[in-house]
Amino acid sequence: MYKGGYTGKILRVNLTEQSAIEEDLPLEIAKDFIGGAGFGIKYLYDEVEADTDPMGPDNKLIFASGPFSGTTIPCASRMAVTGKSPLTGAVGMALSGGYFPVELKFAGYDALIIEGKAKEPTYVWIKNGDVKFRSAKKVWGMKTTDTQQIIKNELNDQNVRIVCIGPAGENLSKMSCIINEMRAAGRKGLGAVMGSKNLKAIAVRGTHKVSIADKEKFRIAKGAFSKVMKDCPSLYPKFSKVGTGLGVIGMSGRGIFPAKNFSATGEFTPVEEFGVDVQKIRTIGRESCYGCPVGCSQLKIAKTGPYIGTLTEGPEYETTFAFGGQTGVDNYDAVIAADRLSDELGLDTVSAGGVIGFAMELYEKGILSKEDTGGLELKFGNHEAMVTLLRKIAFREGFGDILSDGVKVAAAKIGKGSEQYAMHVKGLELPGYDVRGSKAQGLNYATAYTGADHNRGYAFQEIKASSVPIGEVDRLSIERKGELTKWNQDVRTATCDAPTMCAFLLDLVVASIATRNTADVMEAVTGLVYTPDEIQKVGERINNLARVFNIKAGFTRVDDTLPKRLMTEPLKEGAAKGHVISQDDLNIMLDEYYKARGWDLKTGTPTKEKLIELGLGYAAEDLA
Ligand code: SF4
Repeated sequence: MYKGGYTGKILRVNLTEQSAIEEDLPLEIAKDFIGGAGFGIKYLYDEVEADTDPMGPDNKLIFASGPFSGTTIPCASRMAVTGKSPLTGAVGMALSGGYFPVELKFAGYDALIIEGKAKEPTYVWIKNGDVKFRSAKKVWGMKTTDTQQIIKNELNDQNVRIVCIGPAGENLSKMSCIINEMRAAGRKGLGAVMGSKNLKAIAVRGTHKVSIADKEKFRIAKGAFSKVMKDCPSLYPKFSKVGTGLGVIGMSGRGIFPAKNFSATGEFTPVEEFGVDVQKIRTIGRESCYGCPVGCSQLKIAKTGPYIGTLTEGPEYETTFAFGGQTGVDNYDAVIAADRLSDELGLDTVSAGGVIGFAMELYEKGILSKEDTGGLELKFGNHEAMVTLLRKIAFREGFGDILSDGVKVAAAKIGKGSEQYAMHVKGLELPGYDVRGSKAQGLNYATAYTGADHNRGYAFQEIKASSVPIGEVDRLSIERKGELTKWNQDVRTATCDAPTMCAFLLDLVVASIATRNTADVMEAVTGLVYTPDEIQKVGERINNLARVFNIKAGFTRVDDTLPKRLMTEPLKEGAAKGHVISQDDLNIMLDEYYKARGWDLKTGTPTKEKLIELGLGYAAEDLA
């Protein structure tokens, strides 16, 4: 019996049959996987074959919030979207905030499973328990903000919350994402999974309340959590006021702000061009996810050139890297415009910037010519070409079609040795940290179940100089990084991705008490009792189950690697000058990591004993 937090219900929507059924959420699944990414990976594992075509009707998309979503616990209005990734072929999981996640909960569901394929463009309309399938023909081809507005108008309710895809998802770009408001479940191409199902949008409206198991314990747990947040100097006023956008200054100082497709890290550092004053005069307001007192999202408006007047929510740090550092663009208004355009087209900013920077390097090296690019002079820093290319990628026009499936596919199509400049892990383009100067972050890129994903085991100890949990960490050393990466991945999964809590809180506020805090709030909200170690075990369980899915999909130790450039070319300038993660370095870190995880050292496969210890005996049997 559920006492609080959970609705105890899953909504299963089949687009082929145009049917929707309500199912009970088994209590053991709630206890063992908590929610969010945990539910997503559990249902993906159980219901989707690892060799399924990610863009075929047998792939599924699981939207799941966490048990605290819809309560007044701060920063809990998030969700995980999970499916097999078209970009990587591995588990694809992306997180997003905003208001859709709580609205789904208010409609009565802990998770929504989308399966099958609609015959024609469709949107699904969920109002409390009532589900309708409606034609999306009139919004097919439209940008994401127009799509959301037209559906709201059609439903005659401006408070409906919507997730949708833009033209990129419709055109099956493997870099497409899922947008709600101006927030993205980005990375891993899950927008193309929606597109492949002819699913333009999901609209939801609910009026149920989320119950609390123990109101007194809730009052105490929420009070303690809120106090830790309030007393945190890096959260208030700093982070709350500026968000992540000024990360370019900190990362440049550490010598790890990647530039020009990772060829000029430490040399190209647009600190002044993207600095405090530049951002301040463009900031016209703040936005926040449901129930979040922090409100880290900045509303910015472009002030110059062809971009004047363009409004965006962001650009946050990763996007600033993708359309600034990665492409060598030092025009902040162009970054604002590219951010807004990507949201409208439904393109993941990190992957889109990644592939454009890659193409720019090929152009500069003479591997691509003006004829190849359709007349675009793709030099680093050419912001107009960057913005033009975004549209071409989303609509698969000309040269844009070659780039539309990400850097790995583009390199295979272009050939001529371009593979050595393709910066990805498992097909996922690299985020905004040059890991030659941040070794645990590098190990995380190599081993995260989603590919090069800073969010799966963000090494905040190296990025923000925190001493949790093993004391001071030397970011330039490979020592103790295996243990640390396991901790980062498991604790982040258990305290952020599964309960769908905002990860900024882990990095900035509760690192030292993360598992204790999650256990306290879980008990107060749901009545389910865990020790901090048991919370961490949930993260370990989820990461192991994702790993087994990937092993079944064909991934092994050889895929736990980094782009050649990061392993062979030492950084030429900056605070991390001379550093590299060599193959030997990586081997040593991988051995330590696998040992800490209880995985086979040769193949990186979880051992039978480890899987049984985690209650994943069925996965051990599958591997056998
Ligand atoms: S801190 Fe920012 S991303 Fe996190 S919940 Fe609040 S507004 Fe959303």
